[in-house]
Amino acid sequence: MASAVAGPEIERLIQLLARLPGLGPRSARRAALHLIKKREQLMVPLASALEAASEKITVCRVCGNIDSQNPCTVCTDPRRDPSVIVVVADVADLWALERANAVSARYHVLGGTLSPLDGVGPEDLTIEQLVNRVHSGDVKELILALSATVDGQTTAHYITDLVASSGVKVTRLAHGVPVGGELDYLDEGTLAAAIKQRLPL
Ligand code: ZN
Repeated sequence: MASAVAGPEIERLIQLLARLPGLGPRSARRAALHLIKKREQLMVPLASALEAASEKITVCRVCGNIDSQNPCTVCTDPRRDPSVIVVVADVADLWALERANAVSARYHVLGGTLSPLDGVGPEDLTIEQLVNRVHSGDVKELILALSATVDGQTTAHYITDLVASSGVKVTRLAHGVPVGGELDYLDEGTLAAAIKQRLPL
């Protein structure tokens, strides 16, 4: 085993950083060194931001989003259309859609997708809360923004069946050619979906 190059505080910092997604041991060492060099400008503010966030972060009781207020910033934003709910598997998907700035609606975070193989059933997700929201009377459209994977589509069909009697319009994201994408580089599944779901110009 390699001998430690620094004291236990720095080694602990490196070990914790290495647990972050996208960071391995090498990049964790680089990040730690960067923090140490930028102690006043970065390390101290980061430490207090982490402390403040870890004290205040909660899960929104309405939509399952993560925020420092409950109900969350999205649920309490009066400019958003409350009649449209975008259903996502994870908070990361909500953030991605918000970055795209394409829809001004409310969200519902399921907490994952149905996966019989991994033992994830409806009771492990916030599906019941979603159905309750749909039946609350204010909702006119559910946009199922779920991954184009077997689990994502299984989840989409399950939810569609559950809310079928409510009269709420259920839509899903289009599958097809990415913006700026060249046809020659697409896989057959994506091309086939794009042809099937072609739109009039
Ligand atoms: Zn919320």
